[in-house]
Amino acid sequence: RAKSEGRGTYRFFEARMGAEVHERRSLEHDLRHAVARGEMELVYQPQTEVGTGEVIGFEALLRWRHPERGHVPPSVFIPIAEESDIILRIGEWVLREACREAAGWPRPLSIAVNVSAVQIHSPDLVGLVHEVLLGTGLAPGRLEVEITETALISDPNRALLTLRQLKAVGVRVAMDDFGTGYSSLSNLRSFPFDKIKIDGSFTRAVDTNEQTAAIVRSVLGLGRGLGLPVLAEGVETEAELGFLAAERCHAVQGYLLGRPSPIAAFSRHTHGIVRQDAA
Ligand code: C2E
Ligand code: MG
Ligand code: MG
Ligand code: MG
Repeated sequence: RAKSEGRGTYRFFEARMGAEVHERRSLEHDLRHAVARGEMELVYQPQTEVGTGEVIGFEALLRWRHPERGHVPPSVFIPIAEESDIILRIGEWVLREACREAAGWPRPLSIAVNVSAVQIHSPDLVGLVHEVLLGTGLAPGRLEVEITETALISDPNRALLTLRQLKAVGVRVAMDDFGTGYSSLSNLRSFPFDKIKIDGSFTRAVDTNEQTAAIVRSVLGLGRGLGLPVLAEGVETEAELGFLAAERCHAVQGYLLGRPSPIAAFSRHTHGIVRQDAA
């Protein structure tokens, strides 16, 4: 009995795994055409300076509206895109779209774009960035590229070269999801980052968990010591913001200050006016 049950369980897992592989292939197939079919969209989340309360920039976040499945989150489709060359095409679209958008704002706010490991290790990235900046007329200093530590590990020398070349163009580089990757401290020393972004999982517990509070305080001290501004992601409550302000965190981002939304929702910040359609 046990044996047949075991086999039944095995068949169940086999069937489920088959379904998952099928699901993945299906998404990968659809992802190949998503940009061309106009299913991709960028939403923007404000980044706010704590001291002044001013919006200093926006992070572009990708959204995929699948014709049958509806909204597919980046946590699902980005890893699939990263397993193939699809991420290069999608990443190029994101960069062009975000820079084109930001270049049209009367106010010179910064625009942060997430760049994946595959892009960082692609020999074409620096040329692409250069071309997009020239094509859109966006000042290089307004573009900030966000990279996770995990994106650096497969070929650190290649990644370092890319970061140096980006910086030579005048583009800034932020370390995303700080604290969740590998060997954070040596990465801060080895790579020329301009900003540290504390992962939202730390921010969330900063007002309720003593250990987390201690870690975040240390990261803020680290930033000060290295002369790097620190931005805390995922700020949802006044209590979290209060803690970060008291600890002199430079900037914040999160639902409390603004949910990722179509850019028209933020025309007060990008244009300094309230547009009729967004009001
Ligand atoms: P990320 O770059 O660390 O972006 C922050 C994520 O936290 C976003 O999720 C954002 O919507 C979410 N978030 C912002 N504020 C809050 C908050 O107060 N509470 C909570 N719970 N979440 C908040 P999203 O948009 O689902 O993106 C997830 C990840 O997917 C991003 O993490 C980034 O790694 C990746 N991603 C998104 N867009 C792109 C893209 O254009 N290119 C690449 N390569 N990756 C992207
Ligand atoms: Mg990011
Ligand atoms: Mg992050
Ligand atoms: Mg909290």
